[in-house]
Amino acid sequence: MGSVGAKEVPVLLTPDGRRIDGRRLDELRALEIRAGPLKQADGSAFVEWGANKVMAAVYGPREVHPRHLQQNDRAVIQCKYNMAAFSVDERKRPGLDRRSQEISKVIGEALQSVVFTEEFPRTSIDVYIEVLQANAGTRCAGLVAASVALADAGIPMVDLLPAVAVGKVAGAIALDLKKEEDNFGEADLPMALVPQSGRLVLLQMEGHMTEEELGTALDLGVGGCRAIYEKMKAALRDRYSVAPIEEAAR
Ligand code: UDP
Repeated sequence: MGSVGAKEVPVLLTPDGRRIDGRRLDELRALEIRAGPLKQADGSAFVEWGANKVMAAVYGPREVHPRHLQQNDRAVIQCKYNMAAFSVDERKRPGLDRRSQEISKVIGEALQSVVFTEEFPRTSIDVYIEVLQANAGTRCAGLVAASVALADAGIPMVDLLPAVAVGKVAGAIALDLKKEEDNFGEADLPMALVPQSGRLVLLQMEGHMTEEELGTALDLGVGGCRAIYEKMKAALRDRYSVAPIEEAAR
């Protein structure tokens, strides 16, 4: 540990390029996605990503509440991201705060850009994201879970939406930041990609990086999103794959 003022700063990058958990700069944390774990929801997904645990549930298309949000030509997507009080080391005050509102808004807008909302006028598609355990990158984990849950609900979309945060850690551009890297690193850049068109539909940045570093970060993030996309599709295949007839008969 080094120290900056009163704060103890962990060693974020070793001389041979290993990160605090032994990963290389371009490595993702372990990611497991399960589609359809909730019986009551129309669609659901559970994501374990590093130490993040995130559940998403989708209801709808259904009647819009509150009614004044209803749109005559399309469905509205209402997204609620919530972090459980027990999800972080220092208990989080329960309920809606500005951060949750902002994250709900950016995730909802990203989803709005891929769902064929015009097919369901005057309805609401409600997306609930519950963060049960948090270790940085929860908006990306939430978006991954939400888009698999939407697919599980049978809602037509242009594509799934893989997402990941890239950042700058000890001067280097790194994929998929964990908590210490997010806290003590120089920049955090969450993004979401529409894989088939290559369009970015969520891009935020906190901190500083040069234009050249930003280019590297975007390339790294896009590559990460494409790897995550494969896992999202595999989760949906696992949920809906039909057992071969001989096996089912056994
Ligand atoms: N965090 C926390 N308490 C809070 C909000 C966030 O401990 O009230 C932690 C949590 O681990 C979260 C991380 O800080 O994942 C980074 O939060 P950020 O706002 O950057 O969003 P995220 O990276 O989760 O999308």
